[in-house]
Amino acid sequence: MFDLKGKTALVTGGSRGIGRAICEALAAQGAHVVVNYVRGEDNARAVVSAIEAAGGTAEIAGFDVSNMGVAEEHVSAVAKRLGKLDILVANAGIAQDGLLLRLKEADIDQTLAVNVKGALGCAKAAVKSMMRSKGGRIIFVSSVVAEMGNAGQTVYAASKAALLGITKSLAREYASRSITVNAIAPGFIETDMTNALPEAARTELCRAIPLGRIGAAAEIAAAAVYLASEEAAYVTGQTLRVNGGMYV
Ligand code: NAD
Repeated sequence: MFDLKGKTALVTGGSRGIGRAICEALAAQGAHVVVNYVRGEDNARAVVSAIEAAGGTAEIAGFDVSNMGVAEEHVSAVAKRLGKLDILVANAGIAQDGLLLRLKEADIDQTLAVNVKGALGCAKAAVKSMMRSKGGRIIFVSSVVAEMGNAGQTVYAASKAALLGITKSLAREYASRSITVNAIAPGFIETDMTNALPEAARTELCRAIPLGRIGAAAEIAAAAVYLASEEAAYVTGQTLRVNGGMYV
């Protein structure tokens, strides 16, 4: 099950955190993975090395998704170089938290540029390639706050909710081309960010999670592997919530 041999995949923001786990999991199932990064080429190279050490294949592609045209060009170039692009995971994202009264327009623009326009630019180029190869998988990484909201995360939540609308619309737009489009909505996941939280804050956080713990990046990656697989061919326009029951 979930065999991805012969498939090509691009993961944006793949050099660390959830993106890295997704790269490694797709490669473990046999996909050739392109690890996108914007800063920290060393981290991206380390992901490729880890994948190769585990017997997989991967390469890096550095580009900034926040410029839609640039993102589109780079994704097209990747698809051209590899001959096709079967799987796009639009994972790159930023959160510039703050109460509405302190929000600056520049921060709003930057969050929407990376999280929404970046994802759209990559998807646009991916769809062009997937239409040529008569099928594909697009997976957007949204967030539990898209559906729950969170004080201090208005713009981030808006950007992640936008991805859910985009998922449903693109799913309808490209179903006839055998391209499925789905979103993953992670809850609180163990990353550098959540690791930095004081113990008291983590305990408080876990109280709001029925499964009583923070999730692992590998648990998000497992959802991505499923959505990318042949077994998920009849799943499109959906949001797969991986959140320990935090939002049901
Ligand atoms: P992270 O900050 O470690 O990863 C984000 C990645 O996006 C990084 O690799 C970063 O370099 C990349 N990125 C940022 N701006 C970019 C740009 N302009 N171009 C290309 N890449 C860019 O955080 P993470 O926790 O691994 O988050 C991954 C995704 O999961 C994000 O979209 C985030 O919003 C989402 N998410 C995370 C959590 C969580 O609890 N960690 C929860 C819900 C959703």
